[in-house]
Parts: sequence; C-alpha cells; structure tokens
Amino acid sequence: MSNLDSIAFHQGEYKPLKDCTINIMTHALQYGTMVFGGIRGYYNKEKNNVFIFRPYDHFMRLHNSAKIMQMKPPYSIEEMVEILKELVRRNQYKSNIYFRPFIYKSALRLSPSLHDVQDSFSVYTLLLDDYLDTSRGLKVAVSSWRRIDDNIIPTRAKVSGGYANSALAKSEALQNGFDEAIFLDSRGFVSEGSAENIFIVRNDVLITPPNSAALLEGITRRSILEIAKNENIPIEIRDIARSELYVADEVFFTGTGAQVAWIAEVDRRVIGKGTIGPITKLLKDKFNQIVYGNDPKYFDWLEPVY
Ligand code: PMP
Repeated sequence: MSNLDSIAFHQGEYKPLKDCTINIMTHALQYGTMVFGGIRGYYNKEKNNVFIFRPYDHFMRLHNSAKIMQMKPPYSIEEMVEILKELVRRNQYKSNIYFRPFIYKSALRLSPSLHDVQDSFSVYTLLLDDYLDTSRGLKVAVSSWRRIDDNIIPTRAKVSGGYANSALAKSEALQNGFDEAIFLDSRGFVSEGSAENIFIVRNDVLITPPNSAALLEGITRRSILEIAKNENIPIEIRDIARSELYVADEVFFTGTGAQVAWIAEVDRRVIGKGTIGPITKLLKDKFNQIVYGNDPKYFDWLEPVY
C-alpha cells in the first residue's frame, strides 16, 4: 500500500519514505510508546483542491494523547498542519490521501519510564479511498476481547501500545468471516469498533456511547453529532447494552478510515430491514458532501492545500 518514493516528514526533514528509518533500540518500538493520528485529505476535482478534514481538531487530540503519555510535542498544532500541507504540495497529490502523523519516544533506552525521554514527530502519507467497504452493509461481531480500560491503557490517548487490543479483535473478526469487531467495555457495555466509533438508531433517536465507555474520542463521531444536531435529529449519549445492537433499527460505524459505514448484521442478527437506514443515509450523504468541500456551512472544518 505504501509508496516508498513518496515524501514523508521525519527527524525534521522532508525525505523519501524509504529513508525514514529508526534504530531497533527505540523506546517506542520496544514499549508501544507512540501516539498517532489518522487524517484524511479529500480531492475535489471541480475545485482542483485537496481539503484536509479537521486537522486542527486531530492535532489537538494528538497533543492531548502526548500529554497523557508525558511527551512534549516538538511542534505546535499550527506547525503540524503546515507540515501536512507541505507534504501534499511536495508529493503533488491530486487524489484522496491519508496522513499518519505520530509522536514517538525516540530515545534509545532500556527502561520503559516515560518522563525525561526524548520525543520526535513524523508523518507519512498513503493514497486511500475506502478502508472498510462502504458500498454494502458490514457483517460484524461482538469481540471475545474486552476493550482496554482507561486505567489500563487510556483509550482517549491514541497510543500505539493500545492497538494490540484492536489488532487481536480485528483479526479474530476477519478470521471468523466478519468484516469488523465491536468491543464491549469492562462493564459489558458497547464501547466501539477496532478503529471506529459506533452509533445506533432506535425509534428515530441517534444513540452513541459516552466518552467514559473506554472509547477513542473520535473526530468523525463529534462531526456526526454536530451534523445530527443541525439536522434536528434527537441525540442520546448513553450506555448501550449488547442486545440493544440486535434490536436497533440502524447501526453504523464512524471513523477517519471508515467514514460512515453502515452495518447490516451484528452477531448474525439482521439489523432493521438489512438495508441502509434513513438516518444513516442522511448522515452519510451529508458527511460526504461536507468533506469534499461541497457544503459552505461546514467550510471551517476544512483546510484547503492549494
Ligand atoms: N476508535 C478507534 C479505536 C480508532 O482507532 C479510531 C480511528 N482513529 C476511531 C475510533 C475513530 O476516530 P476518528 O473519527 O477521529 O478517526
């Protein structure tokens, strides 16, 4: 998937991805002490421009993840946004792209302690359209793996070490013939997918678990809640029980990779009529219009590159 000749940002320089290497003793490699983001840029052909979706919010979350992990971000939020734009320009991208920015503990040391350890910032890019197939309904399963608890590895920090949990759940789901996993939290309530937040619709009310349900505070989740509010869709942020998924009228995932991905089956129970539901469709279409820069009401979510 990666293009090794693309230009990435590493150790303060723009250089080919193939030259962006680290030492095998690196703290982040040994202990999973890297915090990361996933950001999309959407290419609008008519406007001949790439729009980066909510980069300031993404980098605010990255800075918060860094704070939790006792890291000192080497660049301000504004400087990081500028690095993304420069990467698009240097790679001359005129396509949909995905940015993977991260701050990692770059010191070569044996102890896993976090404080007084040097941090570095890097970004690579990929050409990316769909991450999950959004043209059809997904078949998903509740994972046998529980979501890590905030007091084990904080899920609001997007920290690489925590993704061992996502990796176990994702592979279990795929190897059992499903498209994606749904995690329950340590209390047994619905938390999120392996790399997506989750919403259900019951009786025309949009429902999503609260930030306290061991989930990542998704930028897409927040965007969907804001859009729903503006569309006068009633919203409830509350715990969701596993069996509520089965009887929901609609279920969908949100995420930078997944965007808005509707779910046709959970644990082999067909959701609603087994087709995309009206509220999911409305939100998905609206979201799509917004990210490509076709809805002036939401222009402030977009950072144009060219
Ligand atoms: N939860 C997890 C565990 C994730 O990895 C992601 C992807 N970043 C999300 C939710 C969705 O977050 P966002 O909408 O900010 O991409």
